[in-house]
Amino acid sequence: ATEAAGAEWNGVGATSDGRRVKVLANVGAPADARAAAETGAEGVGLFRTEFCYLDVDSEPTVDEQRAAYAAVLEPFAGKPVIVRTLDAGADKPLVFLSQEAEPNPALGVRGIRVSIERTGVLDRQLEAIAGAVAQTQADVSVMAPMIATAEEAAWFAERVRAAGLSRVGVMIEVPSAALTAREVLDAVDFVSLGTNDLAQYTFAADRQLGAVAALNDPWQPALLRLIAMVGEAAKEKGKPAGVCGEAAADPLLARVLVGLGSSSLSMNAGSVRAVGASIASVTFDDCERAARAALAAPTSVAARVAAKEA
Ligand code: PEP
Ligand code: MG
Repeated sequence: ATEAAGAEWNGVGATSDGRRVKVLANVGAPADARAAAETGAEGVGLFRTEFCYLDVDSEPTVDEQRAAYAAVLEPFAGKPVIVRTLDAGADKPLVFLSQEAEPNPALGVRGIRVSIERTGVLDRQLEAIAGAVAQTQADVSVMAPMIATAEEAAWFAERVRAAGLSRVGVMIEVPSAALTAREVLDAVDFVSLGTNDLAQYTFAADRQLGAVAALNDPWQPALLRLIAMVGEAAKEKGKPAGVCGEAAADPLLARVLVGLGSSSLSMNAGSVRAVGASIASVTFDDCERAARAALAAPTSVAARVAAKEA
């Protein structure tokens, strides 16, 4: 790629020829949100609401939740924030959901599956999010974790809209959702790729287990092909597909993700500037070339080299 020398993060994510790609932060608590706003992130691509309640014994009231969510939205007045509904499970337990131990927590009742079983908990959370939206100026979307089917996406979208929240999306982090991205997109306004879990489920490699960490490599052709499928579906449906897994934090891979059709990139706040600068230093055409080269590579190592040399 021909790099525009010394491109810097100027707070507006775009390639050097002006293709907009929002550069957003992943946050988990009000303190993270303030730090993220200071890096110049354009908004929040993933607010992990369960992080507010990891050591809470009883379900927070709607008022308590509204206050916690408003504190995260507050530094992002006028900016986009995607609030994810609780992503709990036996691997990320919330005491007040009192979930049974499971032999395979990553494959158990987690994310949207908990919401389907405990609809009241979801509805109270949605009521609190709607309340927080009313008292702040952030431009809020709501999305669900761990969607496996288009039916689940449609079920979630209906409940979110019934709560008076107008923009709804789902995460694509289970291979079945990537394979049916068209049908999933028909049910919602946008999707966001969770590459951490999408890798875990694609390679059948527990993301919490060091012994299989090498398999969870977002440069692997299998993962890149699933991401490309979602990008194509989003283009066809005219709806946005972002990435909010940590793959988006790798400045070179970020270009590939843009070339594969990602309309926004969300990551830990510490990587916002480097990724923003990386995107700003190449054209959209360069990103597409890097994406094609990486997709055609037989291995993750070859994909990285090919993207760099494209
Ligand atoms: C992901 O799975 O990629 C993701 C962004 O969600 P989390 O890391 O919270 O599971
Ligand atoms: Mg996930």
